[in-house]
Amino acid sequence: MEYEAVIGLEVHVHLATRSKLFCSCPTVFGSEPNTNVCEVCAGMPGVLPVLNEKAVEHAVRLGYAVDCTINNDSVFARKNYFYPDLPKGYQISQFEKPICEHGRLNISVDGKSREIGITRIHLEDDAGKNIHSAAENRSYVDLNRAGVPLVEIVSEPDMRSADEAVAYLKALHAIVTHLGVSDGNMEEGSFRCDANVSIRPVGQEAFGTRTELKNLNSFRHVQKAIEYEIQRQQDELEDGHPIVQETRLFDSAKGITQSMRSKEEAHDYRYFPDPDLIPIHIDPEKLKFWKESLPELPEARRSRFIEQWKLPPADADTLVSDSGLCAFFEAAVQAWKPEQARKVANMVLGPLLRSLNQGGMSLADAAMKPAQLAELARIVDSGLISSKIAHDIFPELLASGQSPEEYVKSKGLAQVSDTSAIDEEVLAVLAENPAEVEAYKGGKTKLISFFVGQVMRRMRGRANPAVVNEALARHLK
Ligand code: ADP
Ligand code: MG
Ligand code: ZN
Repeated sequence: MEYEAVIGLEVHVHLATRSKLFCSCPTVFGSEPNTNVCEVCAGMPGVLPVLNEKAVEHAVRLGYAVDCTINNDSVFARKNYFYPDLPKGYQISQFEKPICEHGRLNISVDGKSREIGITRIHLEDDAGKNIHSAAENRSYVDLNRAGVPLVEIVSEPDMRSADEAVAYLKALHAIVTHLGVSDGNMEEGSFRCDANVSIRPVGQEAFGTRTELKNLNSFRHVQKAIEYEIQRQQDELEDGHPIVQETRLFDSAKGITQSMRSKEEAHDYRYFPDPDLIPIHIDPEKLKFWKESLPELPEARRSRFIEQWKLPPADADTLVSDSGLCAFFEAAVQAWKPEQARKVANMVLGPLLRSLNQGGMSLADAAMKPAQLAELARIVDSGLISSKIAHDIFPELLASGQSPEEYVKSKGLAQVSDTSAIDEEVLAVLAENPAEVEAYKGGKTKLISFFVGQVMRRMRGRANPAVVNEALARHLK
């Protein structure tokens, strides 16, 4: 029997607001435990929540970016459950009337485009965090995260493979970061995903029983967990065992999913409208403004890079997947000129990314500004330095932020194109290696790169390679 996978994703995204959803506590990540907490987010009795408008704006902008209908009146509901990291005893979420509904997102896998439906996007507050210390045999509760604004983005069960699920997540990640509605940091839990997976015989319309996979905190884990789960369900069915609807946890060390709780243990959340919060009503003028002031979205940006700036599609993909890198690239192109976008892209995707990775740095840590990267690309283009030198000095320029041209001049790294200086070195190399010259003249023309290498070594990499090749050709005739 041949099976087809059916996948729907629930993605939780932290919204980039300075304060929490219903109080003025800061949302910064990594503070001392329980320092960003007040009576409201600690769930004390007798306090009232006050809605943060910025969170509503972010949710609406995201809704527009994925073609949702925006509900002008939406309602907060209490989702009741008992857990130590939830001091109120309920999460404030949206149930019957979410803020956004009926959207879609285009993905492309192996050159094939597909549209994935978005069921709904709702606003909610995050829970705190339980911290288990095995060494002390104790558990702690940190409420810094309690009350941080989230949107949950629920997809239709429209994906058919792990590759499609990852493509959807990456497209969504690019959108939230380009919009600036979230920093999208997966390690810090700002962008988290649960995957619902089922399989059905190819050709069958009805869906199979699904499992929900939790604890997927990187694109790679999403890929691995879904692939494992599809295979596991297939093995179960082939062994004659029915699929049990349950929540499963991905163990990234073992690469497997394991049962966490079955449907019988599933929560009854007893949703009801939150009596402390009036429905969100958004002024139509404001909605109009939020819609019209959306920035260029990743898909449009990608097409512009390919069509107007002539970038290879793979390069455009890499740039667009990281909004910070993309902004840096665009600023560097503006500092030079659009006709040179490809050369700037090569400098960004080559030396810049490599230096960042090697130094374990992010773009924010770098002193180099876009205009300086453009300057470096320009002095390679003008022949002032070789691209080899540009690669060599990149890490230093990245860290110091000084002008590439000044640096090159002060270190005497400018490329030598002077024919007489190069001729002198070429003649010296040929004189030192008579056997190789003999062999070359006898037909071993591959030795040319040996000669080029020797000249470069003598000139500490600064010789203009075109002039060296020309001089060698002349003297080896
Ligand atoms: P719940 O509230 O229990 O999480 P929902 O109906 O809201 O359930 O569905 C959650 C997610 O599961 C959605 O993303 C949806 O697309 C997906 N889903 C629903 N049925 C299936 C199925 N049979 N196989 C895979 N995914 C499914
Ligand atoms: Mg769910
Ligand atoms: Zn608070």
